Amino acid sequence: MIPPAQGPDICSLCNGTGWKAFQDAGVERVARCDCWRDNMSRRLIAEARIPRRYYHCTLNDFTTYDNDTLEDALSRSRKMADEFPVVKRGLFFLGDPGVGKTHLAVAILKQAILTRGARGLFYDTRDLLKVIRGTYNAVVKTTELDVLRPVMEADLLVLDDLGAEKTSEWVEETLNLIVNTRYNERRATIFTSNYPDVPPESTPDVISLHDRIGFRMRSRLHEMCDFLDLEGADYRMLLSNEGVPALKRNWEERKMHDKIGQAGRTRRPAKAQLRGGDGKADLKWSGGRGGSK
Ligand SMILES: [Zn+2]
Repeated sequence: MIPPAQGPDICSLCNGTGWKAFQDAGVERVARCDCWRDNMSRRLIAEARIPRRYYHCTLNDFTTYDNDTLEDALSRSRKMADEFPVVKRGLFFLGDPGVGKTHLAVAILKQAILTRGARGLFYDTRDLLKVIRGTYNAVVKTTELDVLRPVMEADLLVLDDLGAEKTSEWVEETLNLIVNTRYNERRATIFTSNYPDVPPESTPDVISLHDRIGFRMRSRLHEMCDFLDLEGADYRMLLSNEGVPALKRNWEERKMHDKIGQAGRTRRPAKAQLRGGDGKADLKWSGGRGGSK
């Protein structure tokens, strides 16, 4: 008989077999060993394509510093992560860069993988479109299903930074295919975007999600997700050793900046500046920088 493998990496509970024996009412049975589950989790996490920068993110280390919008977003995130895979609707985090949207999305994804063994997948929307475009065959007008399948079939998908790429017929068709397939199969998706769902009343010229992804896509997303607006400090502007007081200070500065922006220029680009050739947008544009494209 071959002796069981020995060495520092071999699990002492199961001798590296992945199965451990236990007694159940006097009957000897076997079950998956803890090491097998740990390996499985490690593999699923590695396959989820979580960017290194967000690798550490968990729901427990998300700081809300008495900010209602973040507290609400955190409790909705916990609910989704705890109830997964029994979730009827996905989540859509909206807000300025650095408020914590991707942190929450990754934290939910990680918890679903680690506690439920979910097949999770993270994609920056622009990266995904780039990958799909790379396999697009212009002659037969098809995309490799090998690329699309994991995106459409993941138990939980995070599509980060939706709207970063301006829509075109191809982009719209591709994203609609992914989103509609997941919707029809009742698979949960989490989205993030730096664009507001609709322009704020005070600044109607600000570019919104509707402008970036189109009417059809936006209404489908409303059917499948709860939209959550996050406001707050820009974590990226802070040093890692700065705590809650710095976050509150940065948040106040941002609010002040927004107020100034509403009186004059806005932090987000106005429609006419990006749309350029669109005559309607030019007419709607209420002013500011004359002659800019
Ligand atoms: Zn083991």
